[in-house]
Amino acid sequence: MDLSLTETEQRFAHDVRAWLEANVVPTRDADSDADSGISEHVDDLVETIGRGRAWQSKLAGAGWVGINWPEEYGGRGASPVEVAIFNAEYARSGAPQLVNRVGINLAGPTLLAHGTPEQCRRWLPAIVSAEEIWCQLFSEPGAGSDLSGLVTRAEPDPGTGGWRVSGQKVWTSYAQFARYGLCLARTEPGTTGPRGLSLVVVDMEAAGVEIRPLVQITGEAEFNEVFLEDVAVPAGHLVGPAGQGWTVASTTLAHERGTNFPFKEEVVHEGYLARLFTLAARNGALDDPDVSDALVDAYVSLVVLRTHNWRTLSKLARGGEPGPESSWVKLTWSDMTQQMSEAALAVEGPASGLWGPWQRQWLWSKAASIAGGTSEVQRNVIGERILGLPREQRR
Ligand SMILES: Cc1cc2nc3c(=O)[nH]c(=O)nc-3n(C[C@H](O)[C@H](O)[C@H](O)COP(=O)(O)OP(=O)(O)OC[C@H]3O[C@@H](n4cnc5c(N)ncnc54)[C@H](O)[C@@H]3O)c2cc1C
Repeated sequence: MDLSLTETEQRFAHDVRAWLEANVVPTRDADSDADSGISEHVDDLVETIGRGRAWQSKLAGAGWVGINWPEEYGGRGASPVEVAIFNAEYARSGAPQLVNRVGINLAGPTLLAHGTPEQCRRWLPAIVSAEEIWCQLFSEPGAGSDLSGLVTRAEPDPGTGGWRVSGQKVWTSYAQFARYGLCLARTEPGTTGPRGLSLVVVDMEAAGVEIRPLVQITGEAEFNEVFLEDVAVPAGHLVGPAGQGWTVASTTLAHERGTNFPFKEEVVHEGYLARLFTLAARNGALDDPDVSDALVDAYVSLVVLRTHNWRTLSKLARGGEPGPESSWVKLTWSDMTQQMSEAALAVEGPASGLWGPWQRQWLWSKAASIAGGTSEVQRNVIGERILGLPREQRR
């Protein structure tokens, strides 16, 4: 792949950088001793979400959200290379994560691939502006890695031509702020596994939806249990054909693992590493072999992620769709972020405080090898679908 940017791409990068420089309010001071450049503990999630909505709406107003989506749905028809440029510049600017990231990264691409033009017109612009936040109602208490074992039912409602959904979902990020949820449910009674599933859009404000926040290891409660009891879903909320939910959900999962976030994470972690080197030099810790080994390991894993990202980019630029390689990217990223968080604690040393941004990051990094599919599951996908090893036995 030719990694140099064309003139048009250079101009695009310049425009992105100029807009971000003029509009991002710096939340960190790179020279401050206390500053790590990483996310602080969130004390008030409601306030953070409110600020996030306002920021995303401003970004969307300037055309910088969902940039690869068609213009009619709020995007600007950007190419995969422009998306990668944008993600890198965005991460470099220190701007906050998009509040509606489930909508932008998962629901949007799924609707674009499988939704009707009417569904796209109805939902995509409000996803872009963050007017309507989305969540992903996939995992259940008995179905995570083995997602096709899910038991939430969507039964036909003869009165409306739609569905009535009952069941329990879990680990649903931002459900408490979401207007809509992308819900995988069993529409054909008596089926098991991937057959007989459908993807429907649940109105999170409908009668019968109960949301209970769950506190994570960081002390924050971003994700939730969601109880669905006879929730009415209109006929127009079915995404893709009935019974083909597994195929539709595969699009969601492929985007979750490997298209948008790795480019951003690459730049974010470059920033972390630079800060860790500075901190280690300041602490006189660079001569400590444990610290220097940890930093070098973190650097190497960052370079491996970058190489995977280039490969993804060249596939997307040739018009390809994310495939099983996205498992490789996801696995590399989770290993890298956990390694870097370990390195951070090694750099801070035994005299560090018990609670600070790096400590929060270390705790948060534990979720990286679970969310979006565990590392063990990614290894299974890599073994079976990329390396061609024998398939594991499934029920
Ligand atoms: C921060 C965070 C946010 C999340 N947000 C959402 C969300 O918004 N919406 C949503 O639907 N879900 C969400 N999830 C759920 C996530 O997708 C699941 O946690 C994940 O798929 C694993 O499922 P599980 O927790 O049921 O673990 P299990 O599937 O029960 O796995 C338990 C252990 O067994 C191992 N294991 C399971 N099967 C195999 C196998 N075949 N081979 C080898 N090892 C195996 C796993 O690797 C793991 O170590 C989130 C999770 C986290 C951590």
